Amino acid sequence: MALQPLDVELRNVFKFFHQEPAVNGVDLEVRQGEFFSILGPSGCGKTTILRLIAGFETADAGKVLIQGQPMTNVPPYRRPVNTVFQSYALFNHLNVWDNIAFGLRLKKLRKSDIDHRVKEALKLVKMESLRSRFPNQLSGGQQQRVALARALVNRPSVVLLDEPLGALDLKLRKEMQVELLNLHQELQLTFIMVTHDQEEALSLSDRIAVINQGKIEQVGTPSQIYEFPRTTFVADFIGDTNLFSGEIAAFDATNVQIETKTGLTIVVARHEETPTEISQTVVVCVRPEKIQLSLYPPNLPHNCFEGRLINVMYLGTHVNYVVELINGISINVLQPNTFGNLPDPNTPIYAWWEESDCLAIRE
Ligand code: ATP
Repeated sequence: MALQPLDVELRNVFKFFHQEPAVNGVDLEVRQGEFFSILGPSGCGKTTILRLIAGFETADAGKVLIQGQPMTNVPPYRRPVNTVFQSYALFNHLNVWDNIAFGLRLKKLRKSDIDHRVKEALKLVKMESLRSRFPNQLSGGQQQRVALARALVNRPSVVLLDEPLGALDLKLRKEMQVELLNLHQELQLTFIMVTHDQEEALSLSDRIAVINQGKIEQVGTPSQIYEFPRTTFVADFIGDTNLFSGEIAAFDATNVQIETKTGLTIVVARHEETPTEISQTVVVCVRPEKIQLSLYPPNLPHNCFEGRLINVMYLGTHVNYVVELINGISINVLQPNTFGNLPDPNTPIYAWWEESDCLAIRE
């Protein structure tokens, strides 16, 4: 499939606050029609990146381009973008209709055009029946729909979403995630969303940029980010993981053998980015759901460790086990809830995984 043209580009962008870099040399390319998420912990610079694209902040170095045009001296209202904020930022003295029409009236559009566009936006977010309500007569989810309609009514090429669902409770948040995805599919606009919620980013995005301390750690599809984290930060931040520090002791065409600092020998299947220098320090990453448990030793050449259950946490569909291995290291294991009777804590157990179910990352 042909690649869509670039919609938003950041070229080596820096932004400093009080001499501290909030954005530290960021390069980003977002394609037309992508649902792109900027994901990272609090304070890593996500919102600043979004504000640089919107034009609310100016880069200290580097360039922001939208549809190939440098945005250096272009004020926010002249950029083909619209932002939806976590706080909704609705006008409390205006009803839903007038909140959505506000920007169009400022632009002095004809009344018939305004009416047509507001109606269309209300329909998109399924708020036609609540058009006369004021913000304080709406639920959080409904207010967020109005905020979305207000951004969409301007027909921007790029919609910037700053933690758009952050103020909603978990159930409503899940519902609104589906609506956001539907809206994106229907409109085929470029969505750039800031979030610190890894599950939200994984489930909604075409691609994700993981940010740490103002720098990009990795950009990739949700499965690339989850299955092949390039740094220990990404491995640790996205989902739960078991990490073991160690050194490469041997390798061949298919596998790499690692001796961990805690005395385990782990064999990792090689893929194109697996480090292979002898004595290289690496971190082995094993996701809890990739680890199998059995009461009897499985017949496996590698990655099988004796231990005992020290904690069994019932989660409904799944069970989380904490297993203490013979060397005293605890690992997390997540298995579907198929046991019937759950084993008791202290049960001797074997934990094992396939070579292809773990990854070695350069430290
Ligand atoms: P959160 O998830 O908590 O919103 P974030 O990843 O969006 O965080 P930013 O809001 O971009 O992070 O902030 C990045 C860094 O820049 C932080 O250390 C923050 O304190 C600082 N910062 C952001 N805006 C300003 C400002 N206007 N003045 C001074 N420092 C700022």
